[in-house]
Formats: sequence, structure tokens, C-alpha cells
Amino acid sequence: MDRQINSVEMEQRKGRRLVLFPLPLQGHINPMFDLANILHSRGFSITIIHTTFNSPNPSNYPHFTFRIISEDLPENNRCTKDLIAFVSMLNAICGSPFRDCLADLLSDTSEEPIACLISDAILYFTQDVANELKVPRMVLRTGAASSFCVFSSFPLLREKGYLPIQDSQLEEPIVDLPPLRVKDLPVIHTNDPEDLYNVVVGMVEQSIASNGMIWNTFEELEGTSLATLHQKLGVPLFPIGPFHKCFAVTSSTTSSSLLTHDQSCISWLDKQDPKSVIYVSFGSLASISETQFLEIAWGLANSNQPFLWVVRPGLVHGSNWVEPLPNGFLETLGGKGHIVKWAPQQQVLAHPSVGAFWTHNGWNSTLESICEGVPMVCMPCFTDQKVNARYVSEVWGIGLQLEKGLERGEIQRTIKRLMVDKDGEYIRERMLNLKEKSNLCLSESGSSKQALDSLVHHILSLESLTFHTH
Ligand code: UDP
Repeated sequence: MDRQINSVEMEQRKGRRLVLFPLPLQGHINPMFDLANILHSRGFSITIIHTTFNSPNPSNYPHFTFRIISEDLPENNRCTKDLIAFVSMLNAICGSPFRDCLADLLSDTSEEPIACLISDAILYFTQDVANELKVPRMVLRTGAASSFCVFSSFPLLREKGYLPIQDSQLEEPIVDLPPLRVKDLPVIHTNDPEDLYNVVVGMVEQSIASNGMIWNTFEELEGTSLATLHQKLGVPLFPIGPFHKCFAVTSSTTSSSLLTHDQSCISWLDKQDPKSVIYVSFGSLASISETQFLEIAWGLANSNQPFLWVVRPGLVHGSNWVEPLPNGFLETLGGKGHIVKWAPQQQVLAHPSVGAFWTHNGWNSTLESICEGVPMVCMPCFTDQKVNARYVSEVWGIGLQLEKGLERGEIQRTIKRLMVDKDGEYIRERMLNLKEKSNLCLSESGSSKQALDSLVHHILSLESLTFHTH
């Protein structure tokens, strides 16, 4: 019976197209393309609308169609130094080219009818376009549900005086959002702090106005936050993650990477002892000072653990790459350290030699670590990373946060505690436990698999809302 329904539904979906619109940043592109692959495997045709900035390589995805919009970003805003200014700008200038592109797709009778637009939640301007063109819109939120709970509380946090943050209050607990302290609030330095507030409120309000939210998370990890959001937002929520585990590690993220993966780290890892290596990466956007860079280098060297370190060009302010390291730094370590510009992170985390991940706690990195059972040293830099780090260390108990800034002694002690000491054992155990849950949720009767089934039904039910020209 079930099989019959499935095949009927699969036929229905075969004639349906989904239009996906990612925010053009690495941590948003990866999950959007994973989602595209997941929905394609469930029978939908996929069209990706993308900006000229950080545009994907269509030849990596022969099974999708691509439409580019010329967003005409001013030259000085093409860089992502002020992320919030960048995001505000995208929302301000993409409206008209995006509308034209979507209208064009809707009137194209040579393609299947469009069942739904799925945009990144941060591209909140798309809700007005969807309303105007009468297309259902769902959002993909690429961050955690827990941090979204905090974002959705921004008006309250402002009313209660927690925002904007005062340096004198950093250690104060936030009574309404335990176990967060003021210093864990998801803020970022920006030229105009009002921009941050407006972006957050825009994202939340236009998610509430959408036809539903898709999450790269799972019930067993974030059930409490998801329940809170369900009550608070009143839109259907579909936690169908971890996305990247729905496919073989080598497929989707490899091809959505904006930088080339240096595979030399895999053969280097092959030569290391099981669970001995600390993998260090701060993602695609975070940057550090030269002093911090050197504290990290010496902390790693003194920890005596082998380390694989991603130093992205541009990571260190004022340097192209690793120039600030003392001459012969790696050589004196006798092969204990390996530095690359960009790593095949999912493969690295799945490697048996990796025993810990020193991360900035971007949500993708956090989830990828959980899926491989790798405990974390947490060093959040900005926005949701701060909330993720607090959850990793205090709620899930699967990592240790560097609380006192970057100092080589503390780094050395934290790595040892997490990887070697007896008192880090409970963290390593909890992590393995959670890894197990992250696998189970994708099984046939698992929570994420069921949420995906509901999502597919939901998308098909939205069709009745579509009044386009087909
Ligand atoms: N990543 C990678 N190689 C690296 C570092 C990161 O492929 O050397 C990928 C990582 O697997 C993740 C994404 O880049 O999917 C980073 O996303 P995240 O949300 O962790 O951080 P962001 O870059 O957005 O700060």
C-alpha cells in the first residue's frame, strides 16, 4: 500500500520544479546544495537562482538548471569584511533582478510548473517577491534552531536592555535564555549596529510569513528549541538534517566548495595514530590578529598532539598566508603539524586519526563534527557561533570553550583535557552517543526521514496556492 502511494506521489513530483536561492556565502551554499540534492532525489526538478558574486559552478550539477541574476554589488561591498552591511545590501538591491528572473521562470511553459520557492532565510526580501508573483515560499535556515530562538528574541532582548551589548554586562546570565550569558549573544561588529537588528528582525518576520522553514538539524539534538520555535513562530518546521549525511561524503560539498580542497591532508592523516590529531579550522569568514595566530601556533606546538591546521588565505589580518610563523616552525615539529589552505573537512572529520576539532562553531562545522563523533574545542568569533559554542559546551556537553581569549597556556591545557585527560572522558563519551543519534535520525523510521516525508507532502499541498500562468 505504502509503496503504491509512494510511486503515485513520485509521479506527481516528477512534474514539479523547485526554485532554490542560496545566500552566496560558503556556509550557506553548502547546505542549500545538499538540500537541492535531497529534494532532487525525491523526484523534484531543481532550478538554482544565484548571484554573480560567489557563483557556483553549474558543471558540477548537470542534474540542475541555473539562472544568474546580476545583482550589481558596488565594488567596495563585494568583499565580506562587514557581513551585515553585505547582507543588508543584498536584500536592498536584489529585489528587482530576482523578481524579473522568477517571473521569467514562471512564464516559461517549456519547463515544469514551479511548486515552491525555497530561499535562504537571510534573503528575506524574497517574501515580497513571492507574494507579488503568487508563488509559495519556504525558507531554509542554515543555522541551528537554538540560535534562531535567540534571534527571534531580539526585540525582547533590546527591551530588557541586553542589546546593544554593554561591556560591563558580558558575564551576566540572560534569565530568559539559559544557559546564555550576555557575551554569548549572537552579535557581530558592523558599521551600523542598527543594521544588525534590522537584518535579524527581517529574517525572523519574513520566515514567519513564509509557508514553512526547513532546518539542517534533528529532533534528538534540538527538540526543545524546535518546540519553542513551533509555538512562537506558528509556521510548519521541518528538521530534516544532517543534510550532508544523506549523501556520500565525496559528492555534494566537494562540488559546492568555493575553494579547492587540498587532499594532501588525507595522506598525512593516514600516517597518524588513531584519534591523535587535532583538526583546526575557523571556517570561511572568521579572521584573527597576528598575535592570536601566534598564540594558536604555540598552543598547538606545545600541546604535543599532531595537528592539521587550515590557514585560509586572509585568515590573519595583514598577512597573505602563514608569513607570521617563525622561520622553520613546522620543520622543528618533526612532522607533527600539517598546514593547508582549505581542507576536505567532512572527509577529515570522518578520518580515524582525528580526535578533536578546534572550531569557530559555524553551524555546518558543528554539525559535521557531531556526525563524526569528534569532540570540540570551541572558539566562536561572531553571530550564531557564540550560541552554538555555548550549547556545545554547556547543553550538549560535547566540547570545551576557550573562555579566556587566546593564550597558549590555556590552549595547551584545553587540548590535553579534551583529548587525553581522564576528566575529558565524559565529553568524548557524550559525543559518541550523539553521533549515534545523528545516524539514527536518518534511518527509515528516524525523525529526520519522517520530517522529510512530511516536507514533500507539504510542498505538494502548497500547489493549491499557486496561481501562476501555467
Ligand atoms: N569547510 C571546508 N574546508 C575547510 C573549512 C571549512 O570544506 O577547510 C566547509 C565546512 O565543511 C563547512 C563550511 O565550509 O561545510 C563552513 O561552514 P560553517 O557554517 O562551519 O562556517 P562559516 O564558513 O559559514 O563561518
